[in-house]
Amino acid sequence: MTCSETRGSVSFVGAGPGEADLITLRGAQRLQRADVVLFDALADPALRALAPSARWIDVGKRGFVGVAHARGGRENTAQETIDALLVKHAADGKRVVRLKGGDPSVFGRLEEELAALAAAGIECEVVPGVTAALAAAASTRRPLTRRGGGRSVALTTAVSRDGTLGAGRHADTEVFYMAGKQLAALARKLVEAGWPAATPALVVSRAGWPDELATEHTVASLADATLLHSGRPTVVTVGVGAEPIAAAARPARVVAESLMAEEARTAP
Ligand code: SAH
Repeated sequence: MTCSETRGSVSFVGAGPGEADLITLRGAQRLQRADVVLFDALADPALRALAPSARWIDVGKRGFVGVAHARGGRENTAQETIDALLVKHAADGKRVVRLKGGDPSVFGRLEEELAALAAAGIECEVVPGVTAALAAAASTRRPLTRRGGGRSVALTTAVSRDGTLGAGRHADTEVFYMAGKQLAALARKLVEAGWPAATPALVVSRAGWPDELATEHTVASLADATLLHSGRPTVVTVGVGAEPIAAAARPARVVAESLMAEEARTAP
């Protein structure tokens, strides 16, 4: 997207869920060009190296234990303040990066910030990132879709706006965000929603970081994960995508050997 000379612009950039190298190349380029970066608590502080002379403003709302620059007891930055800061710096002609953990479009309150910029007539773009569910699937080598039984994936927050917990059954694999503190309640709601108690459930905290932790459960035993993952950003994968991959019945090595033998026979 192009920007006029006098007005600034905002790039929403997904930082990825963990270590700095999970950002996209485009996201890294936007950081390198930024004058101002408004960042979340979940983004890796190492990303600062990409924009050392930009002004970095901490607008983190969470402050999980174990996040390197968690804000301790400091007040959450109100959403309206973030909206106002984005508009102000862009209106000042700055190239602003709004750096969000994971992907900006997934539970990132992106809609409110986009609406604020639209109201102010400020240009913006969204650069995608790796969302936590994908990092958890990658590091545990559990594909979210499976041929046959795993045809749909849902990204769900179990926590509604008023803080109450709800859960349904929307897909073959369902990944729950923001439920780490309420795993026992989530387990009950999942059973009520029709998930069989023995359904596999994978709990992954700090996905994409060196201290990532992944534990295997069933829907019925989810509460066992509470203490292990306490105070850490956590996703819960339920259903087909939580199942481990069994070793192939016919090892690829055997197929590879027969391919090589065939090649040797037909070589000129
Ligand atoms: N936009 C982010 C989600 C922000 S909502 C994304 O796309 O990943 C915050 C929730 O995301 C946390 O409560 C947790 O459920 C999840 N989350 C974020 N980072 C995580 C990580 N590294 N490991 C596990 N869960 C994570």
